[in-house]
Amino acid sequence: MRGVARLLLLLAAPALGACGGGGDGRPNVILFLIDTLRADHLSCYGHAANTTPNLDAFAREGILFENCWAQAPQTAPSHATLFTSTEPAAHGIWNDVPSPSGEVLHPALADGAVTLAEVLRDAGWRTAAIADGGWLIPERGLDQGFEHFESRTRGVVDRVQRGLEWLEDNADRGRPFFLFLHTYEVHTPYLPPPGYEDRFAADYRGPMREVLARARAYAASPEIANPLTDVQKKIVNPALAEADEADTAFVAALYDAELSLVDEQFALLIGWLRVHDLLDRTILIVTSDHGEEFAEHGEFGHKQVYEECLRVPLLIRLPGGPRGLRRRDPARLLDLAPSLLAELGLEPPAAMAGRDLAWRGGDLGLDADGFVAETNHPRRQAAWRSGGRKVVLRLGPDRGGQVFDLAADPDEKRPMDEPDWIGRARTALEAYHELATDRREKFGLQPRLQGLEDLDPEQRAELAQLGYVDQ
Ligand SMILES: [Zn+2]
Repeated sequence: MRGVARLLLLLAAPALGACGGGGDGRPNVILFLIDTLRADHLSCYGHAANTTPNLDAFAREGILFENCWAQAPQTAPSHATLFTSTEPAAHGIWNDVPSPSGEVLHPALADGAVTLAEVLRDAGWRTAAIADGGWLIPERGLDQGFEHFESRTRGVVDRVQRGLEWLEDNADRGRPFFLFLHTYEVHTPYLPPPGYEDRFAADYRGPMREVLARARAYAASPEIANPLTDVQKKIVNPALAEADEADTAFVAALYDAELSLVDEQFALLIGWLRVHDLLDRTILIVTSDHGEEFAEHGEFGHKQVYEECLRVPLLIRLPGGPRGLRRRDPARLLDLAPSLLAELGLEPPAAMAGRDLAWRGGDLGLDADGFVAETNHPRRQAAWRSGGRKVVLRLGPDRGGQVFDLAADPDEKRPMDEPDWIGRARTALEAYHELATDRREKFGLQPRLQGLEDLDPEQRAELAQLGYVDQ
């Protein structure tokens, strides 16, 4: 958003009273986004292993949404939805868009899109993003609204350290701040610090231990320019193709080990805020953009729309807010920006599609209305939830579908013979696409399409590390 509209929004910003907030009395906001984190691997979401003692303690001080859904199982579309509160089908920021000529394109968020950071910046917040590279780059338009934007793949230890440095320099300087802090730590390749794996898989003696040793040695090779680039592809993926149940459990334990590292780093952030008397002047949100699958439905990664890829954590601590509140009603990442703006007393931009979740207590009734998630590549899939049912739709030439009762079958292992639900889901998906298309046209959200040649070599190398592109 540019020019006059910004000025008008600035003038329209309500003057909030002094309520124990940031530099000018309004609360600070930190959005800590742990990329690729499925909800059910946090112990506070019921995981058997004790992965997240610090996040669990944090959850007890605030609000935990048990059923938050991402609207897409990939980084770029999900972040664009989180930032703009518009559907992936409206903003079009998919990770990849295959063109008819066979080229894979990487769309950038339209200038006309209005992001959460833009709204906060224009209302007086100091805005910053410290992100872990990958698709979180200006070339995808995801820097819109951040006065300070830095994004390089460095891991959670470095990113939290950078976040604390930024806070040292910028907190309490007359304006409240909005800090978006992002890490890819639990994304592939899973290479936790040596020994962390034994917190979760001390008894495993199978072949994946040797694969982990080789992957670590390869990643540390000083003679290879971008060693992480090939770890997953050359070393881990061939082993995954042969993995049995115990091997797969070990791979999931490596993910848990990395989550355990993230949890420790989160404790540093919380500790810093407490010591600097900022915790009770800051709205702190922890969430993820999508989950991760460990062969529950035949694949690794995050390319499908089963629960392991869509259900993400959502933890919120509000100054003076509820403690230990567990919300069971469904929430969407789409709703996060409007809910935060409502909490801050700011009007959401007209283009935002999400609703105010009324964090302190309420129920949007989303389950009755139904809601959608989808993915476009490498194959098209959509999911629709309503009335306790979940429908997984295949949208390619094979137009099949599966119906699940999530209460009775939360792991989605027993599809039901209910073809009428598949028909209802297709109708709902069509209506959703119509609404999204209208939103795109009405608010100028048509994305800019671009090829990889628009990225600098270091960015390409980092994307290859994460397995998103061939270098
Ligand atoms: Zn992601």
